[in-house]
Amino acid sequence: MKYNSLNLELLKELQSMLAVPIKYDEETLERYSRDETAELKAVKPEVVVFPVSTEEVSDVMRFANRHLIPVTPRGAGTGLSGGAVPAFHGIVMSLEKMNRILEFDAANMMITVEPGVITGEIQKLADRHGLVYGGDPCSSESSSIGGNIAENAGGNKVMKYGPTGYHVYGLEVVLPSGEVTRLGGKMIKDVSGLDLIHLIVGSEGTLGIATRITLRLLPKPKYSVALLIPFPDIDTAIAAVPKLMTGSGVVPTSLEFMDASSIKAVCSFLNMEFPYADAGAHLIVEVEGSSKDSVFDDYVKLGESAIEAGGLEAFVADNRNTREKLWKARKSIAEALASISPVHCMEDVSVPMASIPELIKFSEEIARERGLEMIAFGHAGDGNVHVSFIKGDMPEERWNEALPLALEELYAKTTGLGGCISGEHGIGLKRKKYLASITDRAQLDLIRGIKRAFDPSYILNPGKIVDL
Ligand SMILES: Cc1cc2nc3c(=O)[nH]c(=O)nc-3n(C[C@H](O)[C@H](O)[C@H](O)COP(=O)(O)OP(=O)(O)OC[C@H]3O[C@@H](n4cnc5c(N)ncnc54)[C@H](O)[C@@H]3O)c2cc1C
Repeated sequence: MKYNSLNLELLKELQSMLAVPIKYDEETLERYSRDETAELKAVKPEVVVFPVSTEEVSDVMRFANRHLIPVTPRGAGTGLSGGAVPAFHGIVMSLEKMNRILEFDAANMMITVEPGVITGEIQKLADRHGLVYGGDPCSSESSSIGGNIAENAGGNKVMKYGPTGYHVYGLEVVLPSGEVTRLGGKMIKDVSGLDLIHLIVGSEGTLGIATRITLRLLPKPKYSVALLIPFPDIDTAIAAVPKLMTGSGVVPTSLEFMDASSIKAVCSFLNMEFPYADAGAHLIVEVEGSSKDSVFDDYVKLGESAIEAGGLEAFVADNRNTREKLWKARKSIAEALASISPVHCMEDVSVPMASIPELIKFSEEIARERGLEMIAFGHAGDGNVHVSFIKGDMPEERWNEALPLALEELYAKTTGLGGCISGEHGIGLKRKKYLASITDRAQLDLIRGIKRAFDPSYILNPGKIVDL
């Protein structure tokens, strides 16, 4: 695809439709040329724009259509697949200034926000009103709700609340043409027409730009307790996951795992001590409920089932302080990884839960064969594993050779186990070539057809997910 670039005249035209100054100084272009995908090369845009309203977003899209200039939407830039990295330079549209809470509707248990609101703000506001927003990626303090929707972000509470898409009931979307459409609303049930909301959710900013988002809130459980359960090895820990649930009759809110290397990395990063730090794996299990007694019953049953299933001990974090400390450790693994080696590759494969040990053993083998280090952690309850390869001291050339081969093998194994190559971080630029190689022709054609229907000029976040 051949795009036009922006000359001074076009930059002036662009500025004339926007309240906030556009930026094209080197420092800004550099800052908006990457996200948190450690191993991806940066690609600089030609200009960064900061719309403050739906109308401005729409005007920019009409401008981009007129002049055939690609536009890459951007939330907070915490993405882990290069979705906000502009594949073809052009315009980066940062939604960071559209960060207002538009309405808190307690009577309908709904909140309406602009896309640039940081997810943690929504969580805190809901909490103050005795409600809960169920989306909870580990990046909740830094990622935006618009980015969460575009990636259908998962996180730690998917067991109980589901991924981001489960909470989205209304969306205002600016289409690539600049037209504005409003989908859904505050009603819980809606089968009027096709479910376009859930086509936009997870579309990685390739089908439309979310400018107004209505999310459902739920009653906040009054009590929650987390358990930390060390296991001798990863096999026993994962085999314990279904036994925990069937043995106790409880579906936990969270069921996370960390292998021994993740614990080591995070302890050193946070300078903290962990009980049984040398155990083969740890599970974190969280339960919530409306009364102290019911939560007590649930966690005792879960703890007993865990010990029966081979757990070495069940540590109870039943006050805010200990729970926060535990979750801080789990949520800091990505940063700990970056501190060990700024260049690393955090994967996001998703397999049927019982296949996690086989997948991790296989990953350890391929890492060993290729001279890479690796750690693994993730969401044991839903089979989403963050196998992470680490460059460390490996020379750049060897890393560049070893990594793609390791990824090909990892993805082949994942699909062989009935899994998929990304559970929550998305395809973006990072996994595009791999998606094309493992997806059947009919499905690729459908994805391309949908993209063409939304974006015939191919100007909204081109070069992502699949090539046309
Ligand atoms: C430390 C750390 C922990 C993380 N933990 C998790 C986790 O637990 N679970 C998880 O799922 N992810 C996690 N992530 C990944 C990342 O935070 C999520 O993918 C998040 O949803 C990205 O949001 P963002 O605002 O940073 O979006 P960006 O990175 O800016 O953009 C992501 C994608 O969304 C598109 N986009 C952004 N805004 C809009 C909009 N308004 N309309 C249309 N498209 C838009 C962009 O074009 C891009 O394709 C983590 C990342 C880090 C760094």
